[in-house]
Amino acid sequence: MKKKILITDRFAQDSFLYLQQNGQFEIVRSDHPTHLPLEHLVGAHALIIRSRTLINEDFLKKAQQLQLIISCTSGFDHIDLEATSKWGITVMHTPSANIDSAAQLTWGLVLACAHNLLSAHRMVKSGEWKRDQLTGLELAGRTYGIVGLGRIGTRVAEIATIFGMNVVAYDPYQEDEVFSKLKIPRLSYEEVLKTADVLSFHVPKTLETENMLNRSHFEYIHRGLVLINTSRGSVVRENDLCEALQKGWLRAAGLDVFEKEPLSRNSNLLDFPNVILTPHIGANTEDAFFKASQIAAHKLISFFTDGSTSDTLPPRVPWYGATPFKGE
Ligand code: NAD
Repeated sequence: MKKKILITDRFAQDSFLYLQQNGQFEIVRSDHPTHLPLEHLVGAHALIIRSRTLINEDFLKKAQQLQLIISCTSGFDHIDLEATSKWGITVMHTPSANIDSAAQLTWGLVLACAHNLLSAHRMVKSGEWKRDQLTGLELAGRTYGIVGLGRIGTRVAEIATIFGMNVVAYDPYQEDEVFSKLKIPRLSYEEVLKTADVLSFHVPKTLETENMLNRSHFEYIHRGLVLINTSRGSVVRENDLCEALQKGWLRAAGLDVFEKEPLSRNSNLLDFPNVILTPHIGANTEDAFFKASQIAAHKLISFFTDGSTSDTLPPRVPWYGATPFKGE
């Protein structure tokens, strides 16, 4: 009997055809990643999802045949992993697929902030040419602070060194060897916040990282900081960030993720000309979609052919054991 595979979100056509050609699957595609019709879930043996599909106990109760979930993402806070393990479901993800895209967006935001690109663009479009209002920041020789020196943080750090920046990082769970290989000094969180001219977050959503940048830290951040968050919105307390922006403590901020998504039309973040906002597009490139779909298709075939697994969740990493996030 063919295995029923439900693809709940965007998935590359090449990988879809590759799965189809394999012959052992009946593939159903859903156009509703957030509200999957019950008839799609019933009898599904595997799901291929992205972060818009939230997996919790109620969801799993409707999918009694489910053996496997593959999330085409690196973050996995949309999956209640206690529930999946209780139901004996194997979960895998594709953490390598979007490293470059997420690092690239991080750098896109850094450069846009350093050169006031959005204000410059708006100025020229409105027929003005007041260059003295657009003095930028040269990055070479300045300090780039990374919080979370994992896959994406490491790539962002490598790019920072190409720009001639001095990189420092905070990651209590990363091995010393990674810091020394990258020649990055291992600092405390406070030291990073006090020294960074540019600061970006690349941490997972956990109880420990929730609101890890709040009013108490803005008090002592390096004044004139460029702040970037492309990790998870829960990391930065938005009200406190607005207060710090209001006080002129930051040069600029670039945010791809928010406490609540989509960002409310009433958010105070919309009021600052030096804040650049993007709608959670860090992994949203043709290439990252293609890679994630391809990796997911291979994982799925291997699992149903010989039971092999890779990038299984929960991950065997120290931070997960320390403070796992239990899902939405
Ligand atoms: P990763 O697991 O490779 O790296 C995360 C790093 O954070 C690890 O080195 C870990 O030790 C560190 N860490 C954990 N808890 C910490 C803490 N309390 N303080 C400091 N460091 C801590 O993950 P990744 O693939 O590099 O992804 C990083 C983040 O980016 C994740 O939150 C992911 O969901 C997010 N992400 C966002 C987008 C987007 O579209 N904006 C795209 C891809 C990934």
